[in-house]
Amino acid sequence: MTESFLHNRELSYLDENYKHITQLLADAAVKSGRAPEDVRLMAVTKTVAPAEINHMLKLGVDLIGENKVQELMGKLEFLEADGTDIHIIGHLQSNKVRKIIDTVSMIQSVDSTSLIDEISRQCVLHNRTMEILLEVNIGEEQAKTGLPAEQLSECAHKAAESEGIILKGLMCVPPVSDENEARKYFEKTRRLFEDTASSLKGKAELSVLSMGMSSDFVPAILEGSTLVRVGSALFGQRRY
Ligand SMILES: *Cc1c(COP(=O)(O)O)cnc(C)c1O
Repeated sequence: MTESFLHNRELSYLDENYKHITQLLADAAVKSGRAPEDVRLMAVTKTVAPAEINHMLKLGVDLIGENKVQELMGKLEFLEADGTDIHIIGHLQSNKVRKIIDTVSMIQSVDSTSLIDEISRQCVLHNRTMEILLEVNIGEEQAKTGLPAEQLSECAHKAAESEGIILKGLMCVPPVSDENEARKYFEKTRRLFEDTASSLKGKAELSVLSMGMSSDFVPAILEGSTLVRVGSALFGQRRY
């Protein structure tokens, strides 16, 4: 009794953060002409301990994202994650696909034809399907992962035709910038999303546009994001 009381008090900052973020999300969704439910909130849990993650799940979060396979698999047994969707959002090496194929419901960071091939191969081997997003390097940054916009169409058609893969949409991490600058990248990504969706008509039904993080999820929603990935604004600054 005492213990759980202390426990809850210690984590009450999470209640405040969750309330604040879901309110901002709902306001932005309405401002963009949609309903709050039309924009999904992902809690990004890299470097976050299982107790904090579990608390967030109790508050109502039903989607978490991890960047690294090893960190995810290490935490998994401590999570009360029944009914929670888990997505991979960090660069994924082909040789790690096998490890997460039965754990995650979506890989958001697909950025090469060889990764598409390996995901498809593992889906067939495991007799399952996997939802994916193609990650676009929208700022054309040398140091960043993600597909150059010119390669998007080829990869999208390949993914749509690969056995086991369900292509759901696009993801981006724009360059660090101010809100106005960020909004331009989000708009550019939304255009790519619309072009890709229309060129795939009949082959894939694109419905997920994953963009926006702690510092820029409001402008991302105003530009049409359907899924925001929020880490530090929910859990506090990361301690590596
Ligand atoms: C870490 C991370 C986030 C969350 O970042 P915050 O700024 O803490 O919200 C979102 N997306 C990706 C791909 C990340 O790596």
